[in-house]
Amino acid sequence: MAAKHGKQSEEGSSAPSRRTPCDPPVREPGAYALTDHFRQRLRQQGRYVSLPVVSETIVRGQLRWNSTAGWRFSLVDDGIRFTVVVGDTETPSPVVVTGWTEVESWSAAMGSPRWTANDVHTIQLRADLSANRNERIPSLIRPRDVDRPFEVGGHRIATDAGAGYVECVDCGRRFRSKAALCGRRCYGAVSPTEPVSD
Ligand SMILES: [Zn+2]
Repeated sequence: MAAKHGKQSEEGSSAPSRRTPCDPPVREPGAYALTDHFRQRLRQQGRYVSLPVVSETIVRGQLRWNSTAGWRFSLVDDGIRFTVVVGDTETPSPVVVTGWTEVESWSAAMGSPRWTANDVHTIQLRADLSANRNERIPSLIRPRDVDRPFEVGGHRIATDAGAGYVECVDCGRRFRSKAALCGRRCYGAVSPTEPVSD
């Protein structure tokens, strides 16, 4: 991904330096470097963004422009939407800024052999926490069933169906919002009887 490929095939005579932010980004995964932020994401359990997925999204995804967020590629496969945000696309050194997954079709995702139920619940839970960052969302957490922990705000969280909170498997604290998860550092093991933090 970080390796630069030649640009001979691109746009004939127009030099890369003459590109503007409004020019559609190239669909050559090899042309993009990765931000440190995105490298970290690639290593995190439960994000479901990998280099092959990013490459496929850049090659096949729908291209969208947003005046504040810039260019993004978006691809739906097996009920899951992959989004890849790119930057510096007017320069010879474009980057993958970030990427994430969302459930596009619950039934398609649950019916696909590519995803386990745990995967689909994880993607939905992460998206709900992010979309409602400052809200406590027990009603959105309650249907979720995630037994393989994933990281949010430095905590590794899981939840059982019927529980209106997520619980950190390291510190044992319980949370109901992303803001609470990000606002309290994980100090590892504490008393398992500690009440809900937020
Ligand atoms: Zn914790």
